[in-house]
Amino acid sequence: MIIITQPAVTDAQIDHIVERVEEFGLKAEVLRGTMRVVIGVIGPEDVIREKPLAAIPGVESVFAVMKPYRLVSPNGTKPPPVTIGSVPFGTGEKVVLISGPCSVESEEQTLAIAHSVKNAGARVLRGGAFKPRTSPYSFQGLGEDGLRFLADARAATGLPIITEIMDTRDLAMMEKYTDCLQIGSRNMQNFALLKEVGRSRLPVMLKRGFSATINDLLLSAEYILSEGNPNVLLCERGIRTFETMTRNTLDLNAVPILKAKTRLPVVVDPTHGIGLRDYIPQMALAAVAAGADALMIEVHDNPERARSDGDQALLPEVFADLVRRVRAVAAAVGRDV
Ligand code: PEP
Ligand code: MN
Repeated sequence: MIIITQPAVTDAQIDHIVERVEEFGLKAEVLRGTMRVVIGVIGPEDVIREKPLAAIPGVESVFAVMKPYRLVSPNGTKPPPVTIGSVPFGTGEKVVLISGPCSVESEEQTLAIAHSVKNAGARVLRGGAFKPRTSPYSFQGLGEDGLRFLADARAATGLPIITEIMDTRDLAMMEKYTDCLQIGSRNMQNFALLKEVGRSRLPVMLKRGFSATINDLLLSAEYILSEGNPNVLLCERGIRTFETMTRNTLDLNAVPILKAKTRLPVVVDPTHGIGLRDYIPQMALAAVAAGADALMIEVHDNPERARSDGDQALLPEVFADLVRRVRAVAAAVGRDV
């Protein structure tokens, strides 16, 4: 940690800063420049971070040297891919397609959509059984019945499944059905939930909170890894901005940044990112060009009757056409689907 002192700092204040730092069990190195005095604070970064250094009189600002998300950061070794079922993510070659309905609505609906997305090229089936709805009066999901329908669709198609967990109390039950746990945008900073899934044997796809910075997302991922679960996928799904023309603003800036700053595969969800069916394909293609390892796209065979997010669901044939174009863009950036 580096302390920058105020321009008018006195010698007595510098002595006091050094005294405080040493009292914390840390070491201080004073560097006197012609204009400013800088103090290097040496010791374990986690201990230093806890100390209120900026509160000491004469301190102007404090800078961290190390990033606080060390487990998610690259460490010089090639990270093993994260797998859902037997589908690897983050291989550097494949772009993986995750698709299915927003909500699991019935056995027939789940099965029909699972078959059509599989035929189009999806490798993982998605579907919500526990839905994080803004209104308590909106459809909340089928619960455990929904998980059963997903598991049946996996048995019929061979597609592994991903579904959202909203409650720590559901983990043991959900582990019986699903291949991957999704943490939704609204729960990205539900730290109890992050710690709980951090102790699961299942991989976790962590969606970025719609008001969360990239740094917040990385620290939430760090919670999961620090509990012992290294199998985390990061998902950019759009953030809230002043723009009202779209549901969210898909932050494709996050893709190359997450790729550079972490060892974790990056998924992009253009469906929630833009929220308007007509423009999802363009953003899906842009995400692949930006370097995404996977796409998550909602598909419904009867969007006008969908119980959630019908406005942003692609019809199966539109999804199939999109997959063809994803293949072309993937090839252009040295990858395939
Ligand atoms: C979803 O994937 O259906 C979902 C609810 O996403 P988010 O948490 O990103 O809103
Ligand atoms: Mn949805």
